[in-house]
Amino acid sequence: EAKNQGKNRSIFFDQRMRTEQMTRTVVQAELSNSLERQELEVVYQPVVALDSNCTVGCEALIRWKHSQLGEMSPSEFIPIAEKSGLITALGRFVTERACEDLSRWLEIGVVSADCFVSVNLSPREFFVGDLVARVQETLERNGLEGRHLRLEVTEGVLIESSQEAAVIFAELQAMGVRICIDDFGTGYSSLSYLQSLPIDVLKLDRSLIQQIPESPKSREIARTVLNLATALDVQSVAEGAETEEHLSAIRQLGFRFAQGFILHRPMPASQMEELLRHEGAGRTAGRRSSAGH
Ligand code: C2E
Ligand code: MG
Ligand code: MG
Ligand code: MG
Repeated sequence: EAKNQGKNRSIFFDQRMRTEQMTRTVVQAELSNSLERQELEVVYQPVVALDSNCTVGCEALIRWKHSQLGEMSPSEFIPIAEKSGLITALGRFVTERACEDLSRWLEIGVVSADCFVSVNLSPREFFVGDLVARVQETLERNGLEGRHLRLEVTEGVLIESSQEAAVIFAELQAMGVRICIDDFGTGYSSLSYLQSLPIDVLKLDRSLIQQIPESPKSREIARTVLNLATALDVQSVAEGAETEEHLSAIRQLGFRFAQGFILHRPMPASQMEELLRHEGAGRTAGRRSSAGH
């Protein structure tokens, strides 16, 4: 009986593994054609200042629409792209598109000069030798300054090679590019690198943010991180506010910036442009006149 069960289980696992392997192979093959088939899009989620409810910048998020496979989440296909090495091409596409879009918004005057786009980088992209030169070239070609770009990395980058990361961070920051630690509070968050590494922004993960209304412990953790970050002159962004409760909880704690579905869902560039135009129309004349390059 037990032997049989074991056997069945191993057959089951074999089949599941085979299916997963097949899926990965298919997805990898299809993904490698996605660029030339123009199936990739970049959508934007506003980062909102909680005092004014205005957009101060936005996060660029990749979308892939395949004719047969349908829409797949980046959390599913990014890991596959990382394994195959395709991530560098995808990452270049996203950075390029994000810079083009922000450059256009600056040019038509729907955003002020301190608006930014925030681009996610996988560890694999981060340690590609020409990252710094490529970022600089992309900024220059689009007439942007370093401060217009934020790069989001996870703590994985620091764990893999904090020495190398420190050097790259410093080079990027010398150009004015801001470094964000994404999904903060999900990994083995070490506060020590806040002291040793030049970090500009901590993005507190939604799993922590969403527990704040119910969990006093989560609230205290968030409060402590926020206070520490503020004391060290590191900006904090609360991610994943989905409900009014989440929002009022993070306001109460004193977060100044947030992203979340309750504020805005990620949207195509055209819609983002409309939102920015709309918000800009509500600004004072003085602030509007500071828009442009
Ligand atoms: P992330 O960088 O932490 O991005 C935030 C994710 O949370 C996005 O999911 C966004 O749509 C989602 N989100 C925002 N507000 C809420 C909310 O209130 N509730 C919930 N449940 N979710 C919210 P998305 O676009 O599916 O991306 C998932 C992850 O895939 C990203 O997490 C990021 O790690 C990765 N990713 C996305 N685009 C790129 C990219 O261009 N390059 C790389 N390397 N990774 C990317
Ligand atoms: Mg991110
Ligand atoms: Mg991320
Ligand atoms: Mg995140």
